[in-house]
Amino acid sequence: MTQTAPEALALDGLDVPTRLLIAGEWRDAAAGAVINVVNPSDTSVLASIADAEVEDGLAAVDAAAAAFPAWAGTAPRERAEILRRCFELMTERSEQLARLISLENGKALPDARGEVAYAAEFFRWYSEEAVRIIGDVSTSPSGSNRILVQHQPIGVTALITPWNFPAAMATRKLAPALAAGCTAVLKPAALTPLTSLAIAQLMVDAGVPAGVVNVITTSRTGAVMGPVIADPRVRKLSFTGSTEVGRHLLRQAADNVLKCSMELGGNAPFLVFDDADLDKAVDGAMVAKMRNGGQACTAANRIYVQRGVDEEFARRLTERMSALRVGPGTDPATEVGPLVDEASVRKVDELVRDAVGQGARLLTGGRAPQAEGFFYLPTVLTNVPLSARMVSGEIFGPVASIIPFDTEEEAIAAANDSEYGLAAYVFSEDLRRALRVSERIESGMVAINRGLVSDPAAPFGGVKQSGLGREGAHQGLLDFTETKYIALDW
Ligand code: NAD
Repeated sequence: MTQTAPEALALDGLDVPTRLLIAGEWRDAAAGAVINVVNPSDTSVLASIADAEVEDGLAAVDAAAAAFPAWAGTAPRERAEILRRCFELMTERSEQLARLISLENGKALPDARGEVAYAAEFFRWYSEEAVRIIGDVSTSPSGSNRILVQHQPIGVTALITPWNFPAAMATRKLAPALAAGCTAVLKPAALTPLTSLAIAQLMVDAGVPAGVVNVITTSRTGAVMGPVIADPRVRKLSFTGSTEVGRHLLRQAADNVLKCSMELGGNAPFLVFDDADLDKAVDGAMVAKMRNGGQACTAANRIYVQRGVDEEFARRLTERMSALRVGPGTDPATEVGPLVDEASVRKVDELVRDAVGQGARLLTGGRAPQAEGFFYLPTVLTNVPLSARMVSGEIFGPVASIIPFDTEEEAIAAANDSEYGLAAYVFSEDLRRALRVSERIESGMVAINRGLVSDPAAPFGGVKQSGLGREGAHQGLLDFTETKYIALDW
């Protein structure tokens, strides 16, 4: 193994950096260590990248703190135009970026292309929002003075992202942070760091000034990010990842009373009523379940189908799932790529065995195919008992678990019987019923008769243990600001 990261990884004409971005320079880690990034489709090593130490993390905070006053004072129009150039460069480089995501994450190219388009939209949306940070002025109820309200950039931010959407989770934080006038230290997941490094390079190319965005990649996450989060110059922590790590970070953030955004785990219920259009419901389930091979926080984790249509729904879903082509992410024929690592394959298989052991009926899949790489076959289970572990926790794999129900009340109670509350899906041709059910579901987002909720113009986020705060929409920008109230007489 080399002890310093190479200059860059050349990929289809795109030079992907492999070092840390600190104060506008690409640097080796202080101790010169590296992390190997593995292609989950064939377990080969794609690249070696810098493995940051504590001092690298703190150097990134130094850079972000030094850059903050000038960036916060930059004209909103200038920030908007830089973000717009980020959108344009990301769109220009979209095919190479999609291939890069596919290589390091494993997702099939169509999913990777969809992610790049979605990720780029955050740059465009927040380039439009940067010039619309609007406060207000009112007269106090007593008439004695005026109330002036402004939204000011919060300061240096620490951004931590997961491996399942390596591009979109980075831009969903970076774009609003920069639009608001904040500077950032981004720490992507060690499994999929290359996409974030390529995005950082395009931000540099688009004219983001030195120190405004810094990127730290590390295998010693807790040790390196602990001091970053504890540094009093950092004023906001925005995290996307598992609920377990989110809880831990909230405890750490409490010491400095950091403002936190937490986009955590999900356990989305997918409700199909007997008045649903079954073709639409199966199409929706394929998207809600199989985007990224099931490795999405919004993935349909529990598919509740009303008795009477449950058998037919299961039959049609099984037909579609068993026809999916499984293969390497970058193969143009592939519809479902591998899972991200071996531990994920083991976990998914254990959940399937647990459900079958408790009486669930396996309709297709249920095993890892004999192939190099971290693959698992698209799987459908029906009559999954409520005691199965996959009902209470995230599956994060290509496994559809169908649970029959009888009444609307029963479906709502089952949907809400979870510590999570991120996304939910409701299928019914009776709009009154669909809205009635949506209002009673305890989740931050509900999709009616569609399998996709994500939209940069909509507030994305969860309730209960799925998180705090929202990303996307205007609210995503306000989450990177502090509200300042000025009392005055005139
Ligand atoms: P994870 O919690 O293991 O890791 C997420 C990030 O946190 C990674 O960058 C990781 O290195 C970092 N991390 C881990 N321990 C840390 C520590 N002690 N201090 C600081 N950082 C630490 O999650 P994951 O496996 O990468 O991603 C999958 C999870 O993310 C799932 O639970 C999924 O539901 C969730 N997710 C949520 C959303 C959302 O918007 N709600 C979106 C995507 C993924």
